[in-house]
Amino acid sequence: MTGPADHDNDPSVPPHSQEDILDALLHGSFPSIRASKADLNQIRATGTLPTQDDGVAPANGNQNTSTTKRVLNKIVETLSFGTISKRRFEFAEHVLLGNTILLQWHDRKKYLAKEQPFKLENGLLVTYGQICALGGDFFAYKEPICFGKDAEDQIQRFTWGFESLSTKKNPKAKELAETFIKQKKDEVKAVEAAAQPGSKVTTDAYYDSFYAKYVAEMLSALTGFFGTQEKAYLGLSLLNLDHFGADARTAYNAGHTAALRKAASSKAPKALEDAYAMNAFADHYLQDSFAAGHLRVPRRKLYSGSLGRFSKDICAHAMHREDNKAGLHVKNPLGEKWVAFGDSQLLGPDNSTNLAKCQAALAVSAAEVFKAWDTAKVPAASSFGAWQHAPTLESALDPANHPPMFNKEGCPRTELLDKTCKTYESMNSLLWTYPTTAVKLLTAKG
Ligand SMILES: [Zn+2]
Repeated sequence: MTGPADHDNDPSVPPHSQEDILDALLHGSFPSIRASKADLNQIRATGTLPTQDDGVAPANGNQNTSTTKRVLNKIVETLSFGTISKRRFEFAEHVLLGNTILLQWHDRKKYLAKEQPFKLENGLLVTYGQICALGGDFFAYKEPICFGKDAEDQIQRFTWGFESLSTKKNPKAKELAETFIKQKKDEVKAVEAAAQPGSKVTTDAYYDSFYAKYVAEMLSALTGFFGTQEKAYLGLSLLNLDHFGADARTAYNAGHTAALRKAASSKAPKALEDAYAMNAFADHYLQDSFAAGHLRVPRRKLYSGSLGRFSKDICAHAMHREDNKAGLHVKNPLGEKWVAFGDSQLLGPDNSTNLAKCQAALAVSAAEVFKAWDTAKVPAASSFGAWQHAPTLESALDPANHPPMFNKEGCPRTELLDKTCKTYESMNSLLWTYPTTAVKLLTAKG
């Protein structure tokens, strides 16, 4: 059995750590953007900085200060991209999606997932939905699954990621997971209430009120709670390729395969339970594949390697936010057409069809695990039924949708903030384009 250490020298992955992140805030990744100690303390306390735009005059009140603070707020939002960003399927939405499916148990009866918690190897007690939410965003192997050199390597990376939550190989996993779950308790309760038939509360409004609190929590986590061992988790927010487009499909296929193998490995009831727990972790990437902002962002092109650091993350984050909010006309392989929104709009009235399609995919995913346990057979990834229900990546690129902020090559629209603009900047200017584009996005109002 090999371990994650084997990949330590992989030069394809730049190091990201909380030091990188704080460094960006403290010393400034952009010209003239510098966070003072007081600004940082304010972000830690409230998750945001008051600016004149909010009608709150900053302490020393000039326009420059206000712009700087607005930029800092956007940097903080971008840094949290992948864990607590405002416009994505959030923690509680992953929980809700996972907990509302039916799981066929070893007694062959079906139970609501929320009622059947799993006890993981390290003693952590979690529901299917909680694993969906923790998987990928809070726990994962330190490098993307999609960077695995072949299917087996991808499955191994998924398994290491799952074990970082479920086993004592990560000595703090249980404590960390319990902390996250506790922090999110109110959010989960409110989203469950919003999901009740007839409820007028939208998750979007709910998230607006809680967002600041989470930024504050994550920043204190970045600076205090985590030791060196956990650095990898914090890098997830910037290494979130596995949550986008074709790479999210690769990540789910790897994880679903690992779960199916586990299910087929033994007739013991425990094998089915362990397989479901693994599948819940894999379903995170399936759920992401229903969020509009995850379908066509050219995340690999907009990947912050050693060049450009945060500027590409800022570009990816801005496009992801635009698509989630505007929604995209999509189609699945079954020929069904609908409009998908994303991220904190799961329960929005316009997103109900998208929600139903996602639930159908999750039901198929879990049913395949039961079948593998029942028959001791593992189907090929090419036959995984969940993708029949998911939007195709091609449909998101259909010209009926607004032109993407960045095209497949990663080139920005010439009129960056204009959703009707159909022209793009050329490839050869890109090396200097990303930092300039990032500054444009950061300084834009709204
Ligand atoms: Zn995700």
